[in-house]
Amino acid sequence: MKSPDTKKTSVDSETVTGILKRIIAENGRDHISGYAVAIFCLILVAASTAYIAYIMKWIIDEAFVNRSVANAMVICVSIFVVFVIRGFAGYFQSVILSKIGNNIIARYQRRLYTHLMTLSVGFFSEARSAQVAAQVSQNVSGIRDVMNLTITSTARDLLTFISLLGVMVVQDPLLSIAVFITAPPLLYALRYISKRLRAATREAVNLNSHVLGAMQETIQGISIVKAFTMEEQLERKINKLISGAEHRQNRIARLSERNGPLMESFAGFAIASVFAYAAYASIYNNASPGAFFSFAMSLFLAYDPARRLAKLQVQMERAVVNARMIYELLDMEPRQRDLPDAKPLQVTGANIEFRDVHFAYGDESVLCGVSFTAQGGQTTALVGPSGAGKSTVISLIPRFYDPKAGQIFIDGQDIAHVTKQSLRQHLAYVSQQPYLFEGTIRDNIRYGRPEATDAEIEEAARLAYAHDFILAQPQGYDTPVGENGVTLSGGQRQRLSIARALVRNAPILLLDEATSALDTESEAAVQKALDEAMSGRTVVVIAHRLSTVVRAEKIIVMQNGRVVEEGNHETLATADNGLYARLNNLPRPAISNNSRK
Ligand code: ATP
Repeated sequence: MKSPDTKKTSVDSETVTGILKRIIAENGRDHISGYAVAIFCLILVAASTAYIAYIMKWIIDEAFVNRSVANAMVICVSIFVVFVIRGFAGYFQSVILSKIGNNIIARYQRRLYTHLMTLSVGFFSEARSAQVAAQVSQNVSGIRDVMNLTITSTARDLLTFISLLGVMVVQDPLLSIAVFITAPPLLYALRYISKRLRAATREAVNLNSHVLGAMQETIQGISIVKAFTMEEQLERKINKLISGAEHRQNRIARLSERNGPLMESFAGFAIASVFAYAAYASIYNNASPGAFFSFAMSLFLAYDPARRLAKLQVQMERAVVNARMIYELLDMEPRQRDLPDAKPLQVTGANIEFRDVHFAYGDESVLCGVSFTAQGGQTTALVGPSGAGKSTVISLIPRFYDPKAGQIFIDGQDIAHVTKQSLRQHLAYVSQQPYLFEGTIRDNIRYGRPEATDAEIEEAARLAYAHDFILAQPQGYDTPVGENGVTLSGGQRQRLSIARALVRNAPILLLDEATSALDTESEAAVQKALDEAMSGRTVVVIAHRLSTVVRAEKIIVMQNGRVVEEGNHETLATADNGLYARLNNLPRPAISNNSRK
């Protein structure tokens, strides 16, 4: 997901503690009271577990040695009360931590979305959008897991474990040592496992993002997939990706579960030693059965938190890898910030001027010294062979990219020195592929200007020759159009996107004429809608239709990133040996030729 337009910080090199500190710093304060209550509940859980182990000595001694029914009853009631407390404390901590966890996820999703909006178009043209979405959905839980694991493992498992160890030491110090010596080799083995897990987790997330991304792209392009009978090829590709992801997940499962047999073996050793010693002590030293039972109970009860603590490093490693990937995305800095002295753009005549503009995508030079003027209120058509740089010229005007050299002026103001927000407010854009967003027809038009009234939306739809077909939809303007507006025809979608541009009522219209053929009736409706959208505005259009260029006040002919001719249809069409004249004389009127020259 690297892009020349974005800068990456050193999250990669950040340690687990570094990530942990950052997550706590970003989330701890806001949820401090919730965490305090959860920690209190966890302490109650830990203390009650230790109490149950400790009280074993008394119940055994009172019931079996001293045979005191009254004392045994009191102890039994206290055990019942402690279990109830433990149950409620466990419930509350779980609910509180889940609520906080859900809030953390929601916050990071919002933050990521807002951040993605600030990244430049360059980032999205390099990164596969579906994969970015998959990465976000897979990784965002990492932040929550890091927080919750830290809290539950320290407050509940570590405290329970330490208090049970305390009970063990009180009941039998010597025996405790036998248990303790198993710890260092166990910790060493776990460290080794978690290191190997780190790399595998990152690979798995990347592979899963590829799988999810590829599936989403297939669904989005399903008509192309079917038309070109690409099913088998894509299936082979996806199968390969799925197998790769499956293989990685299996590796992660093997690695993270490897601590199971390790723990069981060590636990078996510790428990067997304890019983051997207990048998010895009771046979030869007449030791108290109460103390032994209490010790054994502590050991059993300590096993669960110990196992969870042993797993902690492994789980934490996975959560931190996920969290780190989220931070990598969040730390990508948008390079195209407004300059400190940027002012709002003031549009008067809406004249656009390109002055010796050079541009390159990475190292590939695409525009070499492009200069032209698009007169305010007039239509300037860009024509030329495919790859000449026409779309690039259009994308420099809203500053999707910045020129490497040269300047672009709107009414004498260098657009590099105005705020992007104000610049884009004065522009409307109709792309070749009319994109409709999730929501209703009305929502989709209103994206042009959020404050537009319903009456203005209908007026724009009328001008765009869309009103009648909108009314024919089941819910009129409130008909949902789905991700790609699948319920609408190509021409209808184009007219909706023209209505969106019309409702914006911006003085400058950037237009990439659709090349896809529509039926004659649709074509005529789209053409009329475009005429409405273009009238009285400064229009820069990538023209594919002869009718558009014929009517344009100025035609800029481009080839290999340069302006090679300039004029209107009459002058250019009659110029000897001119590129425009040649394009115009092709058997099919192909003003923007799709074969490279
Ligand atoms: P067409 O009529 O086929 O759309 P065009 O005249 O609009 O072509 P551009 O799309 O501006 O030409 O492309 C000019 C050159 O820049 C081409 O060589 C293209 O491969 C390259 N190019 C376009 N967009 C990108 C991008 N996002 N990253 C890298 N190179 C790009």
